[in-house]
Amino acid sequence: MALKTIDSLNLAGKRVFIRVDFNVPLDDQGKVTDDARIRAALPTIQFALKNKAKVILASHLGRPKGKPEDRKKLTLEPAAERLSELLKQDVILADDCVGDGVKKLVRDLKDGQVLLLENLRFHPEEEKNDEEFAKELASIADVWVNDAFGTAHRAHASTAGMAKFVKEKAAGFLIQKEVEYLGKALGSPARPFVAIVGGAKVSDKIKVLENLIAKADAVLIGGAMAYTFLEAQGVPVGKSLVEKDKLELARQILERAKARGVDLLLPTDHVCGAEPKETAERVVVNDRAIPPNLMGLDIGPKTLDRYRQRILDAKTVFWNGPMGLFEQKPWAEGTFGVAQAMAKSPAVTVVGGGDSAAAVEEAGLVDKMKHVSTGGGASLEFIEGRVLPGIQVLED
Ligand code: ADP
Ligand code: MG
Repeated sequence: MALKTIDSLNLAGKRVFIRVDFNVPLDDQGKVTDDARIRAALPTIQFALKNKAKVILASHLGRPKGKPEDRKKLTLEPAAERLSELLKQDVILADDCVGDGVKKLVRDLKDGQVLLLENLRFHPEEEKNDEEFAKELASIADVWVNDAFGTAHRAHASTAGMAKFVKEKAAGFLIQKEVEYLGKALGSPARPFVAIVGGAKVSDKIKVLENLIAKADAVLIGGAMAYTFLEAQGVPVGKSLVEKDKLELARQILERAKARGVDLLLPTDHVCGAEPKETAERVVVNDRAIPPNLMGLDIGPKTLDRYRQRILDAKTVFWNGPMGLFEQKPWAEGTFGVAQAMAKSPAVTVVGGGDSAAAVEEAGLVDKMKHVSTGGGASLEFIEGRVLPGIQVLED
């Protein structure tokens, strides 16, 4: 079903409540260290401003536990400051997200002005999707716009609950883009469709793998999960991370891929170390098997070449999960190599998953991808084929 988006509504003079994802990383001084999520919300905010809405923004930040010091540490003030710089206009920050003070600020808000409500999760009712709280949020809005893709997999008061208490609702441009790319990559991909799956654990990615095997022409496996697959095939993997209780599952996935005629590729060489440390010696093992004293920490150069060729020949590439312990330099080549191959590929390239997106960012290749999802957990749930509550309520 096509999503109704913000550009189909008449916003002039209306109180437009936009649920954004300003859950940004902060340093010790409380400065925003990565404003990507704020920038990702700009098209929707700017559209509403241009159309003379009274813009009310709301987000959560971190996981406040109700302690007084959390109020100071997890205030949206740094986000308000950064947003104001990006919009080149004042952003009014409320000291709460509900209550009389907020109602007054909203009454005084003029068309084309921006009000940012304080951290929604300062109220436990937000995550409980409390109906009264949702009603209270909705009481200051004529229109509800959800653009917080990163929390669309959660049914909270601001991401789902308030939908039924507003007159009009729509998706923002970020959610629209996410649904378009993640949906298209899996729904009707141009072929060959190559999926690359890595990361730490098979158990985190079972549904993702199952869904991708049902749709992709080839699935390239890397990261620590590769060793569980290799061990399941009887290949020695030394000290590598293996999920012993997932060997049977790995065998089933291999079987299913074979039955469906999907090429499931596993590493044929490895970059290993005696321990997962930056200072450990980097050893290239030119064999499927890993010696007993070593641990696989990245895909090897031969494997990278083979994966690179598949990526370059593809028409659609979806990537989730780093190929190795890329946070440490000796084991980063496979992950960055895959990112570079995607950047060069003529394919529609889509990246999902928090750590994978961070790797693409670190490689400086975000602009070379067709789409890098802003939602870690949400993009994975989407790829698993689940219905995200924050999107479902937009469709009802
Ligand atoms: P995403 O967030 O993109 O879904 P995951 O959370 O599944 O990705 O996995 C990312 C983590 O997996 C990274 O922190 C990375 O260091 C780790 N990892 C990948 N390969 C290995 C490996 N061979 N050994 C140890 N850790 C690994
Ligand atoms: Mg992760």
